[in-house]
Amino acid sequence: MTATSPMTATLIDGKAFAASLRTRIGTAVTAMKAQGITPSLTVVLVGEDPASEVYVRSKGRMTREVGMNSFEHRLPADTPQADLLALIDRLNGDPAVNGILVQLPLPSHMDEAAVINAIDPAKDVDGFHILNVGRLATGQKAMVPCTPLGCLMLLRDQLGSLAGKNALVIGRSNIVGKPMAQLLLRDSATVTMAHSRTSNLQDLCRQADIVVAAVGRPHFVQGDWIKLGAVVIDVGINRTDDGLVGDVDFDGAAKFAGAITPVPGGVGPMTIACLLANTLTATARANGLPDPEGLTP
Ligand code: NAD
Repeated sequence: MTATSPMTATLIDGKAFAASLRTRIGTAVTAMKAQGITPSLTVVLVGEDPASEVYVRSKGRMTREVGMNSFEHRLPADTPQADLLALIDRLNGDPAVNGILVQLPLPSHMDEAAVINAIDPAKDVDGFHILNVGRLATGQKAMVPCTPLGCLMLLRDQLGSLAGKNALVIGRSNIVGKPMAQLLLRDSATVTMAHSRTSNLQDLCRQADIVVAAVGRPHFVQGDWIKLGAVVIDVGINRTDDGLVGDVDFDGAAKFAGAITPVPGGVGPMTIACLLANTLTATARANGLPDPEGLTP
């Protein structure tokens, strides 16, 4: 620790937060089952991408652990898009299916947007359907993408109100950066979006009370870019020779930040917990019940 970096950051334990979130979800599932409703999540996997296989397996296991029904459909990589759309149509019409998740990426012969937009928006637990994107952007009740929803929960837990905070989101993807910015705006933060063509990233970072990094480049955000006391949320998952690392130089940033998420054990576990939260929310809405408390923005 040097004279210019007197702070020791609080470690934001996403793993513990996600575990307690899953316990709360499990309790709510038990209560729903007592009313004769069993929430269910259906995951569709096309092809044999090894990383996707791992994600799908852990999604299934965690779904069952909270007491929900978990269904899986595995289709070969050369499945015609029409067959996938026909399956989605069947799942849309099946009242026993509350949440539908089509694991991305899809094989290159498929049109990802067309597939996502074929999912019933009420069952779109990833929150990627264009109607849910529009609803989020206009402040209406939406299904919200899991990773940014998890980041929001961690930020609120650290900071309480986000109103008036300068928030910098680095990365403008549809699954992380853009919905993250919408959620921060909704909580009245002053939001700046940075991306690959941003010219003064370090200056923007030094002004930010909140930094959310979703770039996909190992240790991209340097420690001395971080404003003293800022809250740093590292979404990045990068496989390197040193194992999994985030988009932020953790050791450097921890000297300046007030609080920071580790990788692994930060945002990652929140993503699956929020998928279960969204499945519970979708089930509640499908059955005319109020939204479960604390699981929606
Ligand atoms: P993406 O590749 O779709 O988007 C990356 C973004 O980074 C782009 O918008 C691009 O403009 C921006 N970028 C690239 N170079 C930049 C630069 N030099 N300066 C500023 N911005 C730059 O990635 P994504 O899907 O948003 O994922 C980002 C990271 O988050 C990846 O490491 C991914 O593995 C990880 N991720 C983690 C979770 C989780 O559950 N923790 C979920 C989704 C994604």
